[in-house]
Amino acid sequence: MSDKNLALNIPNDLSAFWMPFTANRAFKKAPRLIAGAKDMHYITTDGRKVLDGAAGMWCCNAGHGRTEIAAAITRQADALDFAPPFQFGIPQAFELANRVSELAPEGLDHVFFCNSGSEAADTALKLALAYHRIAGQGSRIRLIGRERAYHGVGFGGTAVGGIVSNRKMFGSLLTGVDHLQSTYNREKQAFSKGEPQWGAELADELERLVALHGAETIAAVIVEPMAGSTGVLPAPKGYLKRLREITQKHGILLIFDEVITGFGRLGHAFAAERYGVLPDMITFAKGVTNGAAPMGGLLVHKAIHDAFMTGPANAVEIFHGYTYSAHPLACAAGLATLDIYRAEELFERARNLEPKFADAVMSLREEPNVVDIRTVGITAGIELAPNENGPGDRGFTALRAGFHDYDLMMRIAGDTLALTPPLIISEDQIGELVDKTAKVIRAVA
Ligand code: PMP
Repeated sequence: MSDKNLALNIPNDLSAFWMPFTANRAFKKAPRLIAGAKDMHYITTDGRKVLDGAAGMWCCNAGHGRTEIAAAITRQADALDFAPPFQFGIPQAFELANRVSELAPEGLDHVFFCNSGSEAADTALKLALAYHRIAGQGSRIRLIGRERAYHGVGFGGTAVGGIVSNRKMFGSLLTGVDHLQSTYNREKQAFSKGEPQWGAELADELERLVALHGAETIAAVIVEPMAGSTGVLPAPKGYLKRLREITQKHGILLIFDEVITGFGRLGHAFAAERYGVLPDMITFAKGVTNGAAPMGGLLVHKAIHDAFMTGPANAVEIFHGYTYSAHPLACAAGLATLDIYRAEELFERARNLEPKFADAVMSLREEPNVVDIRTVGITAGIELAPNENGPGDRGFTALRAGFHDYDLMMRIAGDTLALTPPLIISEDQIGELVDKTAKVIRAVA
């Protein structure tokens, strides 16, 4: 990063930009502004070096400022800035689809590109509905998500999502949606490493929904193998397998939302591999470009893809897509990113580092107000008891203290601190991350 990057003008008036998912009024009184980033650190506009405990937002798995990715984007922008993705194509899109599907479990051979995790979730839900229709089962229109799930902010993803605050401002969303209960139960699985031992039986609730509505009305079930945005809730041992058995038995599609678990976070290219479960579709985003360009996508099983490929040869097979599907700059970033993951064996690195990471984070269990710690892959949720101002206030205070006072960036979900650093983190840096987190926890006690 050059000094030039830091020579930014900060506008006196911050009011025009309505920031997403942000306490705008609080932020604008004490802004947290970022000017640059390299490897494991951000540089703030006042020149401080802040440890990135969040891989940006679960996306910069290879760390920041990767020159190979920047160079690939620059080269691509020079050669071809844009080409229409409908009825035309660019070679890089086909290459990236091949590369992503090579990383995916056998059978997930096709990739539909979009620009975000939200678009990937909505694409998956729409494809599920369309698939059943062309398969002569148009009565399958119900969609099943889960409480405490996050599938982005499109209408579909919000509807199958299970975060009350994300839903309640927006009316009825989609009809015909049900939710399985969240697998999280602190009494039965507190301080769990990896897959909690309790909770697989909660998948059987799907049988209840099938009995209630009839299998012939249900199109798909969508779940995150590890719910990240609601506080790091890994799937219990056996839970995803059970969901697969029940969906298969009833002809219901199973969609894994791997927007944060994809590309190494749980020590594998996709969590489906870790759990040994083959879903019908996998959504991805974030890590596919290391966060350097917006991109999302959907891996689709060949059985579903092939069902669409049977009509007249000149007919469009799916009436869905985005102007920026497989955007040239995103494809270039994606290919350069996958090269880095492969060359540096980052997924394997994450797998090997997981026990050390888990042990280091578990050392926080005696810190004040820590009521639970959950770890899986290179991810940890440290749940604090709420303070007297109500749920979420202690977490928010910790976020601010971390950034302003301890040079640490982390994510929060209510009062849970989420540590999800880049997969390049060294063992020393894990120590530093945990030390800083301990200081923050004490500061907000
Ligand atoms: N699904 C999951 C599991 C996510 O964690 C996220 C974002 N954190 C999304 C979907 C939405 O992705 P985006 O913000 O790129 O739309």
